[in-house]
Amino acid sequence: MLSFWEKNSFLNYDIIIVGSGILGLSTACEIKERFPEKNILVLERGILPTGASTKNAGFLCFGSLTEILADIEIKGEAETLSLVEKRWAGINYLKQRLSENKIGYLSYGGYDLIDTPRSTVIRKVEKVNDLLRQVFDKDVFEVADSKIKEFGFNSELVSHLIYSPFEAQIDTGEMMKTLLKYAQFLGIQIINGAEAKEISGGKVAVWHSALNEQITFKSDKVIICANAFMNQILPEPAVKPGRGQVLITDEIDNLKFKGIFHYDEGFYYFRNYGSRVIIGGGRNLDFRKEESYDFSYNEKIIDDLKNKLDNMILPGVKYNITDKWTGIMGFTENKLPEIKVIDNNTIAALSCNGMGIALSSYIAREIAGLLN
Ligand SMILES: Cc1cc2nc3c(=O)[nH]c(=O)nc-3n(C[C@H](O)[C@H](O)[C@H](O)COP(=O)(O)OP(=O)(O)OC[C@H]3O[C@@H](n4cnc5c(N)ncnc54)[C@H](O)[C@@H]3O)c2cc1C
Repeated sequence: MLSFWEKNSFLNYDIIIVGSGILGLSTACEIKERFPEKNILVLERGILPTGASTKNAGFLCFGSLTEILADIEIKGEAETLSLVEKRWAGINYLKQRLSENKIGYLSYGGYDLIDTPRSTVIRKVEKVNDLLRQVFDKDVFEVADSKIKEFGFNSELVSHLIYSPFEAQIDTGEMMKTLLKYAQFLGIQIINGAEAKEISGGKVAVWHSALNEQITFKSDKVIICANAFMNQILPEPAVKPGRGQVLITDEIDNLKFKGIFHYDEGFYYFRNYGSRVIIGGGRNLDFRKEESYDFSYNEKIIDDLKNKLDNMILPGVKYNITDKWTGIMGFTENKLPEIKVIDNNTIAALSCNGMGIALSSYIAREIAGLLN
């Protein structure tokens, strides 16, 4: 049974946000910055945020050359350009809100590794640069083949490298810790271990396990930012989970590269973290198994990631894998971000589709705009 004090002081808010990933927290901060008088609660089911935001590889990117070409193929040029513009705006809003030095921002740039079967894509660099010049005002991609040897990659497997100076890396843990601290500094209340079970009419029901009873938080508006787990709460918008496997090596003597790297239309990615290497991806090897809410490992993919390190990225280099983890992303059918007004009291929002670090601060602004 809750006390009179608890009922009086802890249950009523102007806005409740479900999910304390980057989208939930950015939305809470954006609303509080615009409307300081609003009383905001964030409910998070995990002890820490438990989805994708603390589990990605720390890339600040808007799409590699091959990802953008794949997007153009599916969505067309206008839609692709608009998405890149939103990702780029989101990256800049994130840096403005938290500052570069508090998120471990390092602007070493990004590279796309092109293998022999795809080598003709380099003919499309100019075309994509022409399209993206509308956003960046400069050439975004350039061929950087001389770096293949300099970085120590296997030149039998990597025939071209495409460089972008606009991409950067962050320290994911520091970024999320800074965002949490900033939200608390603004006066946003965050309750962990609180899984929203039912949401309707501005009310959010949560199971209080210590009391063995359901308690209900009340607000004018509930904003659901549960990403991959959206359909465990609401039937729409339709979101499928997509698991990502990530590995990190120990420190490597004379590691030859710095930066973020994409391969195979972004399905694989790796970067340096100091003199260590973080590698992830490979979902496309086992799409069916990776469509999962379960944070467990997929040994087939882990073996493939190690194989990429041994044969393509670090040939002849000694290293050990010291840690591994998984994160769950959310994917919509059209791979676009979505803000859905469910009813007068409920909004569901997704920045997701594997690019939420870039997009979330932008989507948060759009959500806050709906409250004007
Ligand atoms: C391996 C990996 C690599 C990635 N690489 C990149 C990249 O290079 N660039 C990029 O921009 N993005 C990348 N992403 C994607 C990015 O991390 C996500 O798009 C982003 O973090 C999504 O943020 P979110 O807040 O929407 O979701 P999440 O971080 O998943 O947050 C959702 C939160 O909701 C909580 N929740 C769920 N259900 C409930 C409930 N019922 N009650 C209360 N709380 C609930 C969860 O516990 C979770 O904390 C990657 C992700 C992974 C896993």
